[in-house]
Amino acid sequence: MSRRRTADVIIVGASLSAAAVAKRLVDAGYETIALERFPLPRNKPCSGIISPRGHRFLIENFGPLPKEVLHDPTACRGVTFYFPGGVDLPMDFDGGTTPHLNRTYSDYWAIKRSGVTVHDNLRFHSAVDHGTHVDVIARNHDDGEQHYRARYVIGADGPNSQVVRGLYPGYRDAIAWFTVKQHLHEIIDCPLDPEYFHFWFHPGLGFYTWSHQRSGRQIVGVGYEAGTDLAERHARTLTYLEERHGVRLGPCDLRETSVNNFGLSLINRYVFGRGNILVTGQAAGFLNMIAEGMSAALHSGAIAGEAAIEAFRGNRPVQEIYRSMIASEVRRCSDQWNIMKILFGRPHEADFMGTLAKRSMREKMIVLKDTAKFLAPWGRFSWGRQMLWQAVRRVMTGDYDPRRWK
Ligand SMILES: Cc1cc2nc3c(=O)[nH]c(=O)nc-3n(C[C@H](O)[C@H](O)[C@H](O)COP(=O)(O)OP(=O)(O)OC[C@H]3O[C@@H](n4cnc5c(N)ncnc54)[C@H](O)[C@@H]3O)c2cc1C
Repeated sequence: MSRRRTADVIIVGASLSAAAVAKRLVDAGYETIALERFPLPRNKPCSGIISPRGHRFLIENFGPLPKEVLHDPTACRGVTFYFPGGVDLPMDFDGGTTPHLNRTYSDYWAIKRSGVTVHDNLRFHSAVDHGTHVDVIARNHDDGEQHYRARYVIGADGPNSQVVRGLYPGYRDAIAWFTVKQHLHEIIDCPLDPEYFHFWFHPGLGFYTWSHQRSGRQIVGVGYEAGTDLAERHARTLTYLEERHGVRLGPCDLRETSVNNFGLSLINRYVFGRGNILVTGQAAGFLNMIAEGMSAALHSGAIAGEAAIEAFRGNRPVQEIYRSMIASEVRRCSDQWNIMKILFGRPHEADFMGTLAKRSMREKMIVLKDTAKFLAPWGRFSWGRQMLWQAVRRVMTGDYDPRRWK
């Protein structure tokens, strides 16, 4: 057995949520180690379009973004929604463009800027919470074990979180899983504006269909329930893009696939951990509208770090502190899916309702009808009633029900 390493906090993962946790803890003087399963810098399938709020977080916490952490085009002006009935709605982000992040280097940059000690190429395996401390086992690629002991463990290990699976063994089978696959194509002719992220509300293409430009190639992304034949949906999307938008693409030379826990933020079913083990970022279920997860990962990660600091300083139960502090990020994230907030508030950082309000009655009706058709296949997940009830509760009490969290 290897020598046991001790630290105040062990973070699992070395991505954006981990960098935000680490930033808080390291700045406050706590010894912190981040365990990352891949050698850094590692690849992370992502479109890399961050919201204005996430952009501000990066600058305020890690400083100006160096050129190496950006893809080409380096910035994104906003999003364009397409409806099959023929309406296109381009919407600019509030406050100007946001950076187009290259997640391989942006995450590496943020984790380095946090000042945390990283042990990479090391996969978190399990943790045992003894009340006064947590023992952690991690494994390297030769299956050699590394042992750690810390006061708190923070799982920032993304959608397929081993920390969550260890805490709740039935979790994997209890939620819906979605596969998203992005294909990078050579461009022959692409009239889609390279300054925007493009998203289709088209039930015939998939649950999540998007496209944008990266480094001279066009990404065509498709998402559907895990286990679906995405090759067929991808082919269908290519045909649709050519027929409807005149997009002509050459062969695909790179494919990136990822399985995701989409849906938890819609129905307020977040997972925040137990005892001295906290869960944050997408592992906890944070995903904003059109699957923008980076800003929520950063903010929730910072809150997890702050909760640990509060617990150290006041010698109080960390879980209780975290759950009370994280309610603000739950509001930010779940409001994005809340029909009451969408109709009567302004939960997004691009003005959907304002843009729609300027369109003719005919176009508004098309958007309404196409949205209903787009949502119909989602019915099988039985989220509609839960979302509606959470929306009403939010209006009545000002909050989402914390009893629904794990
Ligand atoms: C195709 C695609 C496109 C997307 N596009 C966007 C977008 O444009 N904008 C946006 O904001 N969001 C986007 N997202 C979502 C966004 O990528 C995530 O929400 C965000 O990265 C979550 O950050 P995180 O730090 O919580 O987790 P992750 O970024 O998933 O990081 C988890 C880290 O933990 C490590 N890890 C996992 N398991 C272990 C283990 N057992 N031991 C040690 N380390 C482990 C991983 O290697 C990884 O480094 C996209 C997602 C996908 C799949």
